[in-house]
Amino acid sequence: MTDPTALQNQANFAFTKSLTDKNTLDIYIDKSVGDMTWYIRSFIFNIDYFVSVDFRLVNNERCADIRFYGVDSLDWYNPDAVGLAHPQQRHWKLYAENTHSKIEQQRTYLHEFLHSMGLEHPFDDRDGDYHFNTDPFTSATTDDTIMAYRVGAIPKWWYPRKADMDAITGLWSY
Ligand SMILES: [Zn+2]
Repeated sequence: MTDPTALQNQANFAFTKSLTDKNTLDIYIDKSVGDMTWYIRSFIFNIDYFVSVDFRLVNNERCADIRFYGVDSLDWYNPDAVGLAHPQQRHWKLYAENTHSKIEQQRTYLHEFLHSMGLEHPFDDRDGDYHFNTDPFTSATTDDTIMAYRVGAIPKWWYPRKADMDAITGLWSY
């Protein structure tokens, strides 16, 4: 079992918190996301139900706090990356490579969104805590947390795990 507090990154959270306006985060899903749009919308509406902040889908990219994009390649960032949560000065850019399977893209979009909610990898000890150990490939699996790199059982579709929801609701509590 992953300790939810080991998944919380206070710096990520503080940044996203600073983007809220009237307790709302505006979210933009770019056309480049393609047929993953339905899936992103579904997990946004699900998570919205459990957190104090409200999500609002917007069509205007320029005013969005969190922006989703599908891209052919993230090699400019890291040849091994399949996704990226990239904080900008006043918003997040969330990327997934569209060259992978649909189920892989789902997991990537959800994982990157959870980063923007204030979550970090279970093996990340830069803030002084981690789950189990600091090696991505012997630490938690995606059965425990979507923030893991190790893939556990592959579901029909990806959804946040209990530890993920505990970590998020601990940060964005009512
Ligand atoms: Zn990550």
